[in-house]
Amino acid sequence: MDDCVFCSIVNKTLDKELLYEDDKVVVFKDILPKAPVHLLIVSKEHILSINHIQDSQEDLAGHMINIARKMALKYGVYETGYRLMFNVGKDGGQVIPHLHLHLLGGKFLEG
Ligand code: AMP
Ligand code: ZN
Repeated sequence: MDDCVFCSIVNKTLDKELLYEDDKVVVFKDILPKAPVHLLIVSKEHILSINHIQDSQEDLAGHMINIARKMALKYGVYETGYRLMFNVGKDGGQVIPHLHLHLLGGKFLEG
């Protein structure tokens, strides 16, 4: 997708420091962090949201959560706790229509 900012980061047409990369995901810092640690685990494939995951892709969501766990350990919030969040669609507050998982931590997160 040419006009998708997360695809541009995945394709490296937009310069962004990647904290992790494998064949399925990239991880980078959120540009407007809502907590001391705010990372985005982003699928390499342009999938619009969790609503658009096919049954055959269910392992992708599990992989994203597993990488988030490893990032929590690496970035020092594993023991203190953290929040993992998929925003889905309009009422879910999703702004970027490309599948991503938020990892937030480093402070107490209200409700
Ligand atoms: P969502 O509301 O779940 O779609 O979240 C999208 C997130 O992407 C927001 O927290 C934005 O701050 C973040 N974001 C948007 N553009 C960029 C960018 N170029 N680099 C890093 N994070 C971004
Ligand atoms: Zn995309």
